[in-house]
Amino acid sequence: MNCGQFAAMTTHNAPFTIHWPNTSFVQSVANPREFPHIALPQIAVAGHSNVGKSSLMNSLFGRKNLVKTSKNPGCTRLLNLFNVDEALLVVDLPGYGYARAPKREQNRWISMIEGYLKQADIALVLMLLDIRHGPKPSDLQLIEWLNSAGLRWQPVATKADKLSGNQRMKRLQEMQQAMGGMLAPLPTSSFKSTGVDALRQLIETELRR
Ligand code: GDP
Repeated sequence: MNCGQFAAMTTHNAPFTIHWPNTSFVQSVANPREFPHIALPQIAVAGHSNVGKSSLMNSLFGRKNLVKTSKNPGCTRLLNLFNVDEALLVVDLPGYGYARAPKREQNRWISMIEGYLKQADIALVLMLLDIRHGPKPSDLQLIEWLNSAGLRWQPVATKADKLSGNQRMKRLQEMQQAMGGMLAPLPTSSFKSTGVDALRQLIETELRR
């Protein structure tokens, strides 16, 4: 079922209406039921632990260390909320699939993420995937859940600088196929700042829908 899917858009260099560096950390939430009421549209950012989520969010916000990179990925199980220019709330979901965490713990992460996604009013979920590896089983599990919940989501390929042009194209196509073929992943690199403006544009366009 593809009802929640969202086609990647081309960018037209429209001016940004959101001042992205005007982002502040709001709070961390351990339990989705304790999520504060904030009257802003929400964008959730999901991905496997170590996918490059913190780095990409810092690039998106144009800030160096606002989103803390976790030195101990197995221990972070919080939703981190960021207010972007009083225009949107970006919710950083806990990185799942940490290889050394027990299966039961990993499933608990996924249920916490699904618990939040179920009760929040979310404009878009950014699904981050390492360009080299494509979707892992835990990514596919979440994608299937997003589709069945009818949520809009956009695949975002991270660490694009790790591959040469040809390899990158090939990987992006394989990634798209592995996710059902409907959505083209947006390639990004925090190291090279590639795709960051395109991602901002995509989010702004989505909020104007
Ligand atoms: P998180 O666990 O998903 O928040 O990932 P981090 O942002 O902490 O990054 C995990 C690792 O990937 C770190 O070693 C980063 O330096 C590296 N990394 C993050 N973004 C990029 C990128 O765009 N290119 C490359 N080559 N490495 C990256």
